[in-house]
Amino acid sequence: MILGSVVSTVLLVIAVRRHPTRPFTQRLFLLLLFGNVSLAIGETAQLIAERRSLERSGPFDGIDLVFSLQIVFYLLAFCYFLISRRSQVNLRFFLFDELIILIVTGAISWHYLVSPYLERAEFLSFETLLLLRYPLGDLLLLGGMIILFFGIMKRGNSVPLLMILAGFHLQLIADVLYVALYRTDFPISVMWLDPLWIATVLLIGGAAILFDADERPIGLKIDRQILEGIRLVTPYIFLLILFVTMARQAVSWNGLTIGLMIAVPLLISRQVRIVMDNQRLRENLEAKVEERTAALEQALEEMEHMAYHDALTNLPNRYLFARLFKEELRRAEIHQRFVGLYFIDIDHFKQVNDTYGHHVGDQLIIDIASRLEKRLPHNTVISRQGGDEFVVLLFDVKEESEIEACGQQLIDLFERPFILQETPVFMTASIGGAIYPTHATSRTALIEQADVAMYEAKRRGKNQFHVEV
Ligand code: GH3
Ligand code: MG
Repeated sequence: MILGSVVSTVLLVIAVRRHPTRPFTQRLFLLLLFGNVSLAIGETAQLIAERRSLERSGPFDGIDLVFSLQIVFYLLAFCYFLISRRSQVNLRFFLFDELIILIVTGAISWHYLVSPYLERAEFLSFETLLLLRYPLGDLLLLGGMIILFFGIMKRGNSVPLLMILAGFHLQLIADVLYVALYRTDFPISVMWLDPLWIATVLLIGGAAILFDADERPIGLKIDRQILEGIRLVTPYIFLLILFVTMARQAVSWNGLTIGLMIAVPLLISRQVRIVMDNQRLRENLEAKVEERTAALEQALEEMEHMAYHDALTNLPNRYLFARLFKEELRRAEIHQRFVGLYFIDIDHFKQVNDTYGHHVGDQLIIDIASRLEKRLPHNTVISRQGGDEFVVLLFDVKEESEIEACGQQLIDLFERPFILQETPVFMTASIGGAIYPTHATSRTALIEQADVAMYEAKRRGKNQFHVEV
């Protein structure tokens, strides 16, 4: 027992030192650690007392006090956990489950452990009643742990919490047996309970080592539905245990008791069904709401895209272009850069429509857009303004000469023919340019300037790039 509690204490010391920047985790493990130290001290003191054949004084001496401190510290650790994580645990929700479990456990313990003592007056003593503090403390711990288990496990640390839960179960079993063995001539010795107590402290130490301060879901991830299912049926199972215990005591098996025996399990299954149906309904509803919300979000996204893009080419439309233009002008002003604006109008576009049909004209617009996108440098914004008109913005330009070069590059893009109905067709464009800040500094003035330049290019015979000087 001493060795077990010392090993567990060492594990807890390691856990405390591993999280120097996590006050919550540190305080939690420190409280558990004090619990283990109390146990180690109690066991050592008891061993010394036995070796020296010292008579223990009275029903509650120093050693008992130290032993009781173990449960007190564990309870404090649990309360600390619950208070710091109370936002994650819906207490109201778990309160009834918890009350049912505690009442059933309490009633059965009372019936089998306490009342026999009370009935046999010679055993009823202050000492016996004091003994009950162990199982009662455990019961509190266990109840609390069940709340924690169902409330927090979804988040993470499922393995450590399960280990602590298992530990408290073992401790409760050991303590109940200890009380039962006390002063009865049950054929087993108290010594056989030691492995249970040792397992408890080792499980707590191990849980501290595995504890993840970030509470990320690790290791064994228990399915949410299974967890919910366990939570749902646990109070009913306890109720059934109480019922079966009670039925076993039934003095006479008459029609009434048999009827009750059949009706109660049926009532319970009915109740479970209702709750499960409600849950399924809620989950379906939630899934549907989620689905609808996602569809709406997607539709909204598509609508927003449609509002700012040209349907035929998927290029930014004039509204998006205006916004991007404004941003680039502001940036150019801050970083002292040139910006080139190009108005592109395809020459004799109507002829394509007239010769090949409107939908071939559409395909040509798409091909022109994709050629622009593929061949122009990254520091450009390409937009379709409507009809056979495109606008290109060349931003972040250091030398004014680059703007002239890009204008020529745009003309060159039309050197290769476009394939219309398997026929190569040569197209040309008239392009007008305007330069920020050389020609103008405002957006509208620049647009006007490029538009005028484009018409000048048309007037001068098309298939050329023109900038007003
Ligand atoms: P110019 O050489 O002077 O530019 O004459 P153009 O034939 O290219 O005609 P203009 O630029 O004045 O007008 C563009 C024509 O493009 C007008 C219309 O018939 C056609 N058009 C406008 N929008 C669309 C469209 O979405 N699809 C197709 N296929 N044709 C369009
Ligand atoms: Mg045209």
